[in-house]
Amino acid sequence: MALVNEHFLKLPGSYLFSDIGKKVNTFKITHPKQDVISLGIGDVTRPLPSVCIEAMHKAVEEMANENTFRGYGPEQGYDFLIDAIIKHDYVSRGIHFTSTEVFVNDGAKSDTGNIGDILRHDNSVGVTDPIYPVYIDSNVMSGRAGILEANGQWSNVTYMPCNAENNFIPDIPNKRVDIVYLCYPNNPTGTTLTKPQLKKWVDYALANDTLILFDAAYEAFIQEENVPHSIYEIKGAKKCAIEFRSFSKTAGFTGVRCGYTIVPKELTAATLTGERVPLNRLWNRRQCTKFNGTSYITQRGAEAIYTSEGKKQIKETIDYYMDNAKTMKKGLESAGIKVYGGVNAPYIWLKTPGDIGSWRFFEQMLYEANVVGTPGVGFGPSGEGYLRLTAFGKAEDCVEAMRRIKSWLA
Ligand SMILES: *Cc1c(COP(=O)(O)O)cnc(C)c1O
Repeated sequence: MALVNEHFLKLPGSYLFSDIGKKVNTFKITHPKQDVISLGIGDVTRPLPSVCIEAMHKAVEEMANENTFRGYGPEQGYDFLIDAIIKHDYVSRGIHFTSTEVFVNDGAKSDTGNIGDILRHDNSVGVTDPIYPVYIDSNVMSGRAGILEANGQWSNVTYMPCNAENNFIPDIPNKRVDIVYLCYPNNPTGTTLTKPQLKKWVDYALANDTLILFDAAYEAFIQEENVPHSIYEIKGAKKCAIEFRSFSKTAGFTGVRCGYTIVPKELTAATLTGERVPLNRLWNRRQCTKFNGTSYITQRGAEAIYTSEGKKQIKETIDYYMDNAKTMKKGLESAGIKVYGGVNAPYIWLKTPGDIGSWRFFEQMLYEANVVGTPGVGFGPSGEGYLRLTAFGKAEDCVEAMRRIKSWLA
């Protein structure tokens, strides 16, 4: 008899986006003449940069010729991409890595979800709230999250609320936590930490032997000077942090699939007897066993992002989205709504007026302004009373959505 991993049975269904879809569909059926603008999706809409398309076309041609054909590549990624990553994403900021510290992958979701493979099931876990659901659900699957309590929180997870009251800066826990997930710039709130604020986390991790799992998927959207692009800009972070990066939002790779993970050589964790083990060695072993590399064509596409033409092209797209964010932030503020994020991230996190619930505001906005957002409570209990809008839509849609919201609230 095959037995299932019963931890999976503890997972409540993830209904957020299907619930939103149902409500939007109901509206469309009952109001066939109204056109609805969706600012709810967390997916990019601009096409791939032409440098990537050209590089991928060329790679396809190589695959068609027996002299240049490539089969399995290195599980960790090709050196041409790893070298470009190190040079352009790190050395340019005074951070140095050797090629064995970079692991190219098929996107940050895979590695943020899989990293738990190399960590014991009984580590305690800390997360900011609201949160990208992958961090918690992947820990539930391995039994690390404990049991779901009546208040909607997992028994072995420490929640660090981020809300307007603390300016979206999570308090450092007043107890030891073994593993902490941080995502900056943040999805869903669009907020960031400054260098001194992030340094407090690195200092906490070093003092408490905590492992920080740092998701920097939105690093490329940072506009302000004092916001760190990498956790390794903070001294000591190589001893306590793994960093996840993605080309998904940076360069429109959500459908192509490529990202990378940094596991520094200095980073260790303990065995029960207190022996220190380098996590780089374990992650490499894990990848070589369970992952056979990102496709050659994809990695050539990603490499092209780092050419000077590539940098120019991705900046144009990012500027397009960030202009949307500006339009939305300004529009909402002039409608009297309190708005967070949208400065260093493509997400706007708005406080619902009059403290009404996330879902109620979502429905009102759908019915009165025909604009769709994502109820903040869908990302965790501290998201109640907030709503997320994304800047990944069309510029003209953002302008029109703001016009509608303004006239609705006037
Ligand atoms: C979009 C996103 C990612 C990227 O996921 P990919 O698998 O690389 O597409 C990672 N983390 C967060 C928080 C995200 O919102």
